[in-house]
Amino acid sequence: MAQRYDAIVIGGGHNGLVSAAYLARAGLKTVVLERRHVLGGAAVTEEVFPGFRFSVFSYVVSLLRPEIIRELDLPRHGLDILPLDGTFTPVYEGTGRTPPKDGNGNPIGTGDYLWRVNDHGRTVRELRRWSKLDVEAYEEYGPLMVDMARFIKPILAIVPPDPASIDPRPLLPLGGLLRSFQKLTERQQAVFVQLMTMSAYDFLDQWFETDPLKATMAASGIIGTFQGVRSPGTAYVLLHHYMGEIDGAFRAWGIPKGGTGGISNAIASAARANGAEIRTEAPVARIQVGGGRASGVVLESGEELEATSVISSVDVRRTFIDLLEPGSIDAEFESEVRRFKFRGSSGKVNMALDALPNFTALPGEGEHLRGAISMSPSVDDMERAYDDAKYGRFSAKPYIDIVIPTLVDPSMAPPGKHVMSCFVQYAPYHLDESLGGAAGWDQQREAFGDAVVNRIAEFAPDLPSKILHRQVMTPLDIERTTGLTEGNIFAGELSLEQLFFSRPVPGWARFKTPIKDLWLCGSSTHPGGGIMGANGRIAALEVLRSKGKRR
Ligand SMILES: Cc1cc2nc3c(=O)[nH]c(=O)nc-3n(C[C@H](O)[C@H](O)[C@H](O)COP(=O)(O)OP(=O)(O)OC[C@H]3O[C@@H](n4cnc5c(N)ncnc54)[C@H](O)[C@@H]3O)c2cc1C
Repeated sequence: MAQRYDAIVIGGGHNGLVSAAYLARAGLKTVVLERRHVLGGAAVTEEVFPGFRFSVFSYVVSLLRPEIIRELDLPRHGLDILPLDGTFTPVYEGTGRTPPKDGNGNPIGTGDYLWRVNDHGRTVRELRRWSKLDVEAYEEYGPLMVDMARFIKPILAIVPPDPASIDPRPLLPLGGLLRSFQKLTERQQAVFVQLMTMSAYDFLDQWFETDPLKATMAASGIIGTFQGVRSPGTAYVLLHHYMGEIDGAFRAWGIPKGGTGGISNAIASAARANGAEIRTEAPVARIQVGGGRASGVVLESGEELEATSVISSVDVRRTFIDLLEPGSIDAEFESEVRRFKFRGSSGKVNMALDALPNFTALPGEGEHLRGAISMSPSVDDMERAYDDAKYGRFSAKPYIDIVIPTLVDPSMAPPGKHVMSCFVQYAPYHLDESLGGAAGWDQQREAFGDAVVNRIAEFAPDLPSKILHRQVMTPLDIERTTGLTEGNIFAGELSLEQLFFSRPVPGWARFKTPIKDLWLCGSSTHPGGGIMGANGRIAALEVLRSKGKRR
């Protein structure tokens, strides 16, 4: 006899776990089925080398919804987010304005840097070294972006309406948004339109003149997208990243204690406490459909499980193309699913270090290493990195977002040693045929890892001598390990045509699917990717609403 549940959740990434926690909390007999031996999906911590633990994929958190932290009481289940302060951007020697000097007027190190921290006064003093005009602009820009983020942020908790539906009720939340829009000043409204349409670079160029400042800030606009800082639409992604907040501070990023797997484990603990069953090494081979409705799943082992509802946290292509019997969905819906763009463009290199690297522009083991370290010395550098990707090559000089978690959470490595996380853009999933196409990544992995190390060594020449081990994750590795199609970190690009009521398929943005009792709850759905949990939560609430259950 097949085991019977009220709800089966496919995938034990953070969204699947959030959904399960809410469903179980409402009294549904719920099981999570995770393919891997470890929970978390792209928010996972693993001991990759003895004694060295890594956030293998995602590495910082900002967007995790405060209502989830509260409602699931995550701190009681071990969630602890440690603040990450500042962004340090070394630049090429000779490109700085006024080389930084010590108290005796001697140059500090060789080369220059731009270092922004959460302390506004310090950042302003640092920016003044570069441009007095930029200081004035920065004073206005920061509060304006916070206002923009505050205006758009409620969208994260909304179930997108279906614009074609004749039922007006789902449109109601839009009324609130419209009223908020009307309350914005004319200038704010104009800026909002700019954010929806412009490139990150063009948007920032209206404000600032310092090239490395524009490069570093524009970087937020291209993370996880197959676009360059000068591509229209990237200004929105900039805003997406501004929506994050930690303890009420907008734009703040943090490192979860124990790595991003710490978040997933806290959610899993909350789900279990609410009665959910969680199974690892339980890959789902097929979603069972009969009479137009989902009735359960079959595991790769052949075991069958039945359920009233099946909620899939795996991406839209995997759910509808890989896990359903061909012919289960209508051809039009299927072609929309196939059209949904993934185009992974990121890689990750995790290093175990014997000691900290020394950045020549600001030598020593100072505070500048405790935040993000951005390899984005100029706008042209960023755009050239994208040029490589456009033609199917990984960037020779990639944009890299580095964090050294051991400086905030020493438990991640043996005493005195460090782990360094390098998020890399661009690593196009579809390599040029001359490099072997997507399958060519297995041959290109080490060359890609070398490009990353060499790029950082331009600014920290002693890095290679400090590397004990390195783990190179190509987009193909990301796909193989997490199941994220084409290694797209957000389970589908965050481009405007794939957001809100078009995510993942126009007309099907409300978490339900054309197959009755089959639901989606992962990052392919509104409001997109990132460790937010919003998708998992709203999807679960929609399932419960459809059953007439209170949450
Ligand atoms: C390299 C990288 C860096 C990133 N950096 C950040 C960052 O710093 N901050 C941030 O906020 N976001 C970041 N992201 C994005 C973020 O991690 C993801 O958007 C998010 O974790 C996705 O969560 P999810 O639960 O929707 O899906 P996933 O985490 O993809 O979970 C899906 C789960 O389903 C499982 N699964 C797949 N197929 C099956 C099957 N057939 N049967 C059973 N289980 C299955 C998978 O093993 C996986 O555990 C990053 C992502 C990547 C890849």
